Amino acid sequence: MLTVKDLKDLKGKRVYVRVDFNVPQTNGVIRDTNRIKAALPTIQELLSKGARVILMSHLGKIKWKEPDPEKIEAMKKANDMAPVAKALAELLPGVKVSFCAATRGEELTKAVAALNDGEILLGQNTRYEKGEEKNDPELAQIWASLADVFVMDAFGSAHRAHASTVGVPSILKAEGKPVALGYLMIKEVENLTRCVEVKDEDRPYVAVLGGLKVSDKIKVIDTLLNKCDYIIIGGAMAYTFRKARGEEIGKSFLDADSLDYAKACLEKAKGKIILPVDAVATDSFEEKEGRKVEIVKEIPADMEGCDIGPESCKLFADVISKAKMVFWNGPMGVFEQKDFQAGTIAVCEAIKDLEGKAFSVIGGGDSASAAKQLGYKQNFSHVSTGGGASLEMIENDGHLPGVDVLK
Ligand code: AMP
Repeated sequence: MLTVKDLKDLKGKRVYVRVDFNVPQTNGVIRDTNRIKAALPTIQELLSKGARVILMSHLGKIKWKEPDPEKIEAMKKANDMAPVAKALAELLPGVKVSFCAATRGEELTKAVAALNDGEILLGQNTRYEKGEEKNDPELAQIWASLADVFVMDAFGSAHRAHASTVGVPSILKAEGKPVALGYLMIKEVENLTRCVEVKDEDRPYVAVLGGLKVSDKIKVIDTLLNKCDYIIIGGAMAYTFRKARGEEIGKSFLDADSLDYAKACLEKAKGKIILPVDAVATDSFEEKEGRKVEIVKEIPADMEGCDIGPESCKLFADVISKAKMVFWNGPMGVFEQKDFQAGTIAVCEAIKDLEGKAFSVIGGGDSASAAKQLGYKQNFSHVSTGGGASLEMIENDGHLPGVDVLK
């Protein structure tokens, strides 16, 4: 696969870069510019080589099934890319950054034609186009016709075969034009490939899974059962497995449709799956004065487990302490509430103790924000920028549509 580093003779060339500028924003105020910053190494490399850089990204969601056109317009307005162009310009002083409010047509072609070497044009939110998520060939053709080179740097969108992630590069590739990986993608793909193509020196390999539903993670559990030495399961997911093992789970979250799967999985796992042995349970999920919060082994009928208990913390930390590689996705409890943070903190601490001794990856989404919120982000070897993409890459044995298309 070509990388942005390999690209040469870019003077006068229009380089279409699919970035992930899906930043959190409220009324045009961007709350976190990390995703923009993460794309800067690729952008700067292209600018230094004299390219004319066209950046495209999605932002938020437009629910096209909504029948009321006014509501669609409101969703578009709430996800306008214009403030992102402003934030990008502030991060790149001295570089001309323009913004095009149209996703196709004369306004867009003129804006691209007006670009000079070493300048940037940020396009409007790709999801303003209904055909984006359907990988509409006509739309992909319109965007592909704007570019001489394609660079993929949106890891968080690489599991989606959309017009801007897969449609455009497949057309350009067929036309014999260069398609390449950006720096952010290189880092993500390298680190996650290590969790997929497991080397002997990375064993014991321990996966830590948490979060809500077993059904969301069935494929990843199956894949990890074949790859890992141990799979630690915490979070709400653990109660479906504990129920499958015949334990009392009270009012804890149960993914009833996955109960048979959980049973079969435990049999197949032959001891590889490590489950909690106690829990922090409550009689009220809602954080209110006077609610009961207790450490219990099995969950009483009127309570629900919201975190792993202290014995489970010790058990999990002990398994993690032997690991040479850890992949983690999903918090151990309702980390958003102070009463139920201890399990997620215990896993963070155990991984922190591995620093310099083992390779650790945290897979985006809620777990990465938990690690960040609790102050442990820097203790991981790699914090993935894509929750869904990192899970899918593991599930599909290293394959992602947005990467495979570049091969
Ligand atoms: P997921 O998106 O599947 O990774 O789930 C993350 C969410 O699961 C977080 O918002 C947690 O608060 C929630 N969660 C984790 N453990 C529990 C639990 N024991 N009971 C209810 N929710 C939980």
